[in-house]
Amino acid sequence: MTNKIAVLPGDGIGPEIVAEAIKVLECLRQDFGLEVELESAVVGGAGYDAHGVPLPPATLDLARAADAVLLGAVGGPQWESLDIAVRPERALLQLRSELALFANLRPAVLFPQLAAASTLKPEVVAGLDIMIVRELTGGIYFGTPRGVHTRTDGQREGVNTLVYAEHEIARIARVAFDIATRRGRRVCSVDKANVLECTELWREVVTQVAGDYPDIELTHMYVDNAAMQLVRDPKQFDVLVTTNMFGDILSDAAAMLTGSIGMLPSASLDAQSKGMYEPIHGSAPDIAGRGVANPLATILSLAMMLRYTLNQPEYAVRIEAAVARVLDQGLRTADIFAGDGEQVRTAQMGDAVVAALRSS
Ligand code: NAD
Repeated sequence: MTNKIAVLPGDGIGPEIVAEAIKVLECLRQDFGLEVELESAVVGGAGYDAHGVPLPPATLDLARAADAVLLGAVGGPQWESLDIAVRPERALLQLRSELALFANLRPAVLFPQLAAASTLKPEVVAGLDIMIVRELTGGIYFGTPRGVHTRTDGQREGVNTLVYAEHEIARIARVAFDIATRRGRRVCSVDKANVLECTELWREVVTQVAGDYPDIELTHMYVDNAAMQLVRDPKQFDVLVTTNMFGDILSDAAAMLTGSIGMLPSASLDAQSKGMYEPIHGSAPDIAGRGVANPLATILSLAMMLRYTLNQPEYAVRIEAAVARVLDQGLRTADIFAGDGEQVRTAQMGDAVVAALRSS
């Protein structure tokens, strides 16, 4: 069956890094028999410039019809003064909610070749491989009532609401347990059950769901401790599952353990494992157009797509092995160049991954 992939390069370095990922897909198609069809559309600032909105209807239709979406990045200074409703970043929120992408997967993997890039000691982070599963469409970012209003005593008051229904907790827990089944078989659920009733329910429901996964070891941790443990001994974790806000914060901390924002992919999945795949970084306007961006996070996002949505893990393994091989060869884009090896440009890095794939 031919899978359809919607390609949304976006803004800034987005088109540069997505072009390299496409080279990898083309290589898998031509040389290894992967059956995919690609179609591109504008999104973000590019969508606004072409059609007056960051997520043009045709782009949304394409994303809906596709089996998976590959996104570069959106945003840039030229769109910052726009009304919030049409800013490029709005397209991401709309895509997540229109496609019901409730599960955000953020791996923090440190290739051993890059251990020196982390601010933590190499022995603490070398070989790090954790997966943070963040609930993406509920919790305090969406709960109502919300807003700022003036009370009868004249004081202004800000309100946000942390709310989770049982089904929302159960479905994200299942995603985490399913992923753990394919990894190290350990899930740590992060909450603040000692203070927040909502996350007391979270803990209860996650524990219930765990009953369906007797092979997986479930532990619970308060979020303050989890933040501490992530920098003290991150390798103790396999899969972490948590709420929208806790996941937002912890996944950025985990990403920084690896020290290289240009290396980290992500996925956002719906209930059928249809997904949107993108690097965790933004559009990097400071280096856009110079051909120096690191395309590996986008290429590794493709690997995630093959594993989690297209169900072809053998291709994912090929891509990850090819990336490891180019790092072994000493090739480094500027963001991961630490003096050793050879500094290369965006397109050279993409070409090197393709060459490594071909020779595998
Ligand atoms: P950023 O991630 O774009 O850049 C942060 C720093 O990391 C910059 O110095 C940049 O040059 C560097 N960097 C990022 N990706 C890189 C790569 N692949 N290779 C080499 N270096 C890389 O974050 P920012 O500067 O805060 O945001 C820039 C724009 O991107 C803003 O408009 C922001 O809203 C947007 N943004 C978009 C997304 C997204 O599309 N998912 C995510 C975050 C930020």
